[in-house]
Amino acid sequence: RQRTRISNGGKVKGPQQLEHVVVTGVAGFIGSHLAEVLLKQGASVLGIDRRPPSHDPTAAQNLADLIAEPGFTLIEGDLTDLDLTRFTKGASAVFHLAGVPGVRPSWGDRFTDYLASNIMATQRLLEACAATDVPRLVLASSSSVYGTGTDRPSHEEDLPTPLSPYGVTKLAAERLALAYALRPSTPTSVVALRYFTVYGPQQRSDMAIYRVLEAALTRRPMRLYGDGTQRRDFTYVDDAVAATIAAASAPARAEVVNVGGGRTFSMLEVLECAAKITGLDIPIVRDSRQSGDVETTAADLTRAQQLLGYRPSTSLIEGMTRQWKWTLNRPAVPLSQ
Ligand code: NAD
Repeated sequence: RQRTRISNGGKVKGPQQLEHVVVTGVAGFIGSHLAEVLLKQGASVLGIDRRPPSHDPTAAQNLADLIAEPGFTLIEGDLTDLDLTRFTKGASAVFHLAGVPGVRPSWGDRFTDYLASNIMATQRLLEACAATDVPRLVLASSSSVYGTGTDRPSHEEDLPTPLSPYGVTKLAAERLALAYALRPSTPTSVVALRYFTVYGPQQRSDMAIYRVLEAALTRRPMRLYGDGTQRRDFTYVDDAVAATIAAASAPARAEVVNVGGGRTFSMLEVLECAAKITGLDIPIVRDSRQSGDVETTAADLTRAQQLLGYRPSTSLIEGMTRQWKWTLNRPAVPLSQ
């Protein structure tokens, strides 16, 4: 086993004031929530995303509350060709959330975009951070790096065996960032966060809880892959954001940290929870289990607690209730059932 963790003797540094930060993937689900909280905490935020809100309804919706904020600047462009040093200069932290997510579409032709946006873009950003003396890069990695895992919650030092091309690109990006952070005299330390199935308002439309609540709303059946006994460690977005901000000031040189919700639920339990919240039966159509989908994800949160002072605080029923309220009020966007 390779140890990349630099021990901090169990001490957790308190939150540090972040003055100016960069958030990549700011028009996305997690990135937009993160930017909102950073602004509320008094940071100025330079957000980068390739989805222009003028042409992309989801980006417009995610950025709606941010655009008008005086501390917020949006750079529309692709990380694979922007001059990134112009934007990383002067940042006290860079939060790298841009990436092409999703296990199922990563098989086949779209893989080139996964490679470019998840790996090549990360390498360009790492070079820019080093060239401009950025002290900390926080990177969005994924539970999908674990693959089948073991019969206990996955620990950061378990051997990663991703089962999808997506998971492979996330693992490559994570290892690349750690390699950069372990170079002698590099100015940029790295914390890579392995998020476990994040949900909440503005969740991506390809994700399970979005699709379940959409089925309740529209009465159009939700496609249930497999028999519904597959389990996920669902993480409410506010908890994921709290961990992400704590990661900017955690004492670390090159760290990997799990960010989970604290317990697992099967898809059948999620459907039950949705029925309880909405008061409606959730129509489903059954489909076969998809390649790359794992049976169970579960996070060991010991390190997150020690290093980030992280404790997830939102239960599935609370989190799904908030997402349901959002589902009822949001403008219609294209579905991907
Ligand atoms: P999202 O798709 O909503 O947001 C990602 C954003 O990155 C998008 O707005 C997209 O336009 C932008 N982007 C992608 N490639 C880009 C490029 N080359 N240049 C500029 N912008 C680019 O996804 P999300 O659910 O918010 O996930 C954010 C990050 O967290 C991703 O890196 C994802 O892999 C990771 N992650 C998410 C989850 C989850 O449950 N949502 C779980 C594990 C890991």
